[in-house]
Amino acid sequence: MAMTRRELLSASAAIAVAPALGRRAWGAPLPREADIVVIGAGVAGIAAARRILAANRRVIVVEAAGQIGGRCLTDTATFDVPFDRGARWMHNPDTNPMIRLARSAGLDLSAAPLAQKIRIGRRNARAGETEEFLAALVRANRAIDDASRGKADMSCASVLPKDLGDWAGTVEFVLGASAFGKDLGDISAMDKSRAQDRNPAIGCRQGLGVLIARLGEQVPLALSTPASQITWSGRDVAVETPAGKIAARAAIVTVSSNVLAAGNIKFKPEIPKRQIDAATKLSLGSYDRIALQLPGNPLGLARDDVIIEQSNSTRTALLSANIGGSSLCVIDVAGSFGHALSGQGEKAMVAFAVEWLTRLFGSDISAAVKKSSATRWNASPLTLGAMSVAEPGGQPSRKILTEPIGNMFLAGEATHETLWGTVDGAWESGERAAEAALRRIGALGEPATAPSRAPKRRRGARATVN
Ligand SMILES: Cc1cc2nc3c(=O)[nH]c(=O)nc-3n(C[C@H](O)[C@H](O)[C@H](O)COP(=O)(O)OP(=O)(O)OC[C@H]3O[C@@H](n4cnc5c(N)ncnc54)[C@H](O)[C@@H]3O)c2cc1C
Repeated sequence: MAMTRRELLSASAAIAVAPALGRRAWGAPLPREADIVVIGAGVAGIAAARRILAANRRVIVVEAAGQIGGRCLTDTATFDVPFDRGARWMHNPDTNPMIRLARSAGLDLSAAPLAQKIRIGRRNARAGETEEFLAALVRANRAIDDASRGKADMSCASVLPKDLGDWAGTVEFVLGASAFGKDLGDISAMDKSRAQDRNPAIGCRQGLGVLIARLGEQVPLALSTPASQITWSGRDVAVETPAGKIAARAAIVTVSSNVLAAGNIKFKPEIPKRQIDAATKLSLGSYDRIALQLPGNPLGLARDDVIIEQSNSTRTALLSANIGGSSLCVIDVAGSFGHALSGQGEKAMVAFAVEWLTRLFGSDISAAVKKSSATRWNASPLTLGAMSVAEPGGQPSRKILTEPIGNMFLAGEATHETLWGTVDGAWESGERAAEAALRRIGALGEPATAPSRAPKRRRGARATVN
């Protein structure tokens, strides 16, 4: 059965008021045909679908989860303020399309704190110590940038200056695990150096997950509808789901690089090894948030304070305190340590957060914890991790993932050359894949020039805030 664009739009409008029931709660069967099927209703999927709708073509998004957003997921129920379980910040306000979209969706935006504070044991770092740290950060960044211009790619860790002294561990945490979810030994110097600067950061009071859900309101989509198999060729595609099969002229697949490499969706014929290898080289790092409600400000910190510690091991974290003036404090753990900790489960994660805060702030805060919640992105079968980072030698894989596979196009943060691991990178990748798919089905002319973006700025000393 063909479903017209009007039917699709009126169906999606009818269910927009009841998103919790799932987008097929309107009772309409899954369309049997579309011009383009989009797999995944994360940022890239929603961007792709909106672009296809704007070109007046029929699109249906199939999403395995019960909600829109993917790695942009806001928990509005557990605490008295929204808790962004995934992405929290939008970067580069001059060029980031999400910020304009958030404003036009009527959401409230505010800038992230400009600086992080550093604890050294139970005291704050003095001004001179903070300057030493920033100087170490600049030297480390410069060494990685210099190495990335060499012929052979290397790991970031292997090219760090050897004399970072007491700041070596903190520099490693801030540039590696805390920024990208992997330790510097696992990150390609080329990939890191090509990453566009990610400052300053802008947050959305209602939550980034709420923003993506708003942006998806007019998009025809089926929630709780995983794509199980995609049959593809250079002419058309067929997407199988438990609710039925959709025949389309093209498909856009936005699942994470780990989900793609895990083979959770079957492809007929198999997709080329070249693309699977590329996804494997862009595996996701580990980044999780441990949220504690701490009424009465037992840490004695200001609204939105961000704290890191001088640490000589990977067993460390980043604290965002008193978020938005509330009693919500979020402890981020990442990289190899975060991966091992999240593998032990939520109870162990909360225990670590309490012990870490107690070590840094003196008083035992376990009695002050009123509520807690922790994310475990590695264990989520629909993402299997946090954000893609190229292993040494893996940077060219990003371009490989943008190559069409018959009438199938990959999108998602991992496919963006410079904005990988971000929401705006995912958004741009969705729009780019939609344009490629529309062109393939004859709905768009050839582009005059490739879509452009502000040139990459050099990184300053300030750390990325995730
Ligand atoms: C803890 C954390 C913190 C982060 N912080 C930031 C930040 O502050 N700023 C920033 O810019 N970025 C941040 N990121 C990264 C950002 O969230 C991602 O880059 C972005 O959301 C990725 O979007 P995507 O559409 O590419 O992928 P996804 O969000 O993974 O979307 C893919 C979708 O596909 C669905 N799916 C999977 N399998 C199937 C299937 N078989 N059938 C149908 N659907 C399927 C998934 O459920 C998902 O909805 C963070 C990520 C995490 C995890």
